[in-house]
Amino acid sequence: MKFNILTLFPDFFDVLKDYGVIGRGIDKGLIEINTVNIRDFSTDKHKRVDDELFGGGAGMLMTAQPLYDSLQSVKKSGVPRIYLSPQGRVLDQDLCNELSNLPEITLLCGHYEGIDSRITDEFVDMEISIGDYCLSGGEIGALVLVDSISRLVKGVLGNEESPLTDSHYNHLLQHNVYTRPRDFMGLKVPQVLFSGNHKLIEEWKEKSALDNTRKKRPDLYEKYLRKQDPNKGF
Ligand code: SAH
Repeated sequence: MKFNILTLFPDFFDVLKDYGVIGRGIDKGLIEINTVNIRDFSTDKHKRVDDELFGGGAGMLMTAQPLYDSLQSVKKSGVPRIYLSPQGRVLDQDLCNELSNLPEITLLCGHYEGIDSRITDEFVDMEISIGDYCLSGGEIGALVLVDSISRLVKGVLGNEESPLTDSHYNHLLQHNVYTRPRDFMGLKVPQVLFSGNHKLIEEWKEKSALDNTRKKRPDLYEKYLRKQDPNKGF
């Protein structure tokens, strides 16, 4: 899968090459990161990419021209142009799953006070937010998208690591997990996990996942129950 990342800070994404599972995905040729420096497209003689806001207001805004031209440079039919934005649809696992089925996406990172709204309104297909808070730039959001989507691309996670049992994949949090030692300062791993009885172990995992979700994320738990039984009134 190919990610075009339009940014003022292309070096920011170098970290991905050395970053665990995603780094391996890049080495294996399953993931391609194509960073595009928006500033390279500025026709201003000082390569400026920002200007003051019309109508007043604090800070600077990214201007339309370099954004438009950098978007044009990677334009391809069927490749969605996504602007990382605090005003976007909040990212969740369903959206990650959807996007991971595409061969290529373009991510546009804003900075300063954001970008000229004519770009958002006319030349972007979708706005995605990584949560209801405001960041200083879109780069961290783009990293979140690259990571959460790449790990779903076939072959990126090893066979033994499956995204299917991870939190959120099935709209639940994951069950509790343990490794050696069996006894840590008197805290024991649940006995059932050593029983060798796969059915019992599966039942335990299912219950633990439900308990975790109910305790830690009652909002998700209610949503999950509603999905199981849409007629249930809450
Ligand atoms: N003034 C704008 C925010 C600009 S923040 C507003 O109030 O809507 C600067 C940049 O950070 C944005 O252009 C966007 O690319 C990025 N950004 C900020 N919060 C984000 C979030 N929650 N998710 C994804 N990107 C975000």
